[in-house]
Amino acid sequence: MKQVNIKCPYCGSRALLRPATVVRPIAAPGEEVYVCARYPACDAYVAAHRDSRLPMGTLANKALRRKRRQAHLALNRLWESGCMTKKEAYHYLQVQMGLPESEAHIGRFSEYRCEQVIRLCDGFVRAQGLAA
Ligand SMILES: [Zn+2]
Repeated sequence: MKQVNIKCPYCGSRALLRPATVVRPIAAPGEEVYVCARYPACDAYVAAHRDSRLPMGTLANKALRRKRRQAHLALNRLWESGCMTKKEAYHYLQVQMGLPESEAHIGRFSEYRCEQVIRLCDGFVRAQGLAA
């Protein structure tokens, strides 16, 4: 599959499908990212799915990438604790945030939504007495 046409939400430039080594020193062979054509002046990119080569979400700058990583870690705690499956964790998120399944992907979330995920998951973990 060819690369898809997406734009950088920060500067409006085209996003180009490039090897992941463009944005970090070490990457698995075949790993690719959609990176803003103005990179590194505009520091926005998103990983691509290995098989379909579709973007895993919207392009994110450094602050948003960090928030999305934190949101993933918070959500992972729900199913890693064993009190629900990974699928149930995503369903919980979807219901709590009132989002259709197609939109309940952290890769599409803004910083605000990532904060919501983190609060929600931390609250759940605390309520279950799972916090370390
Ligand atoms: Zn850009």
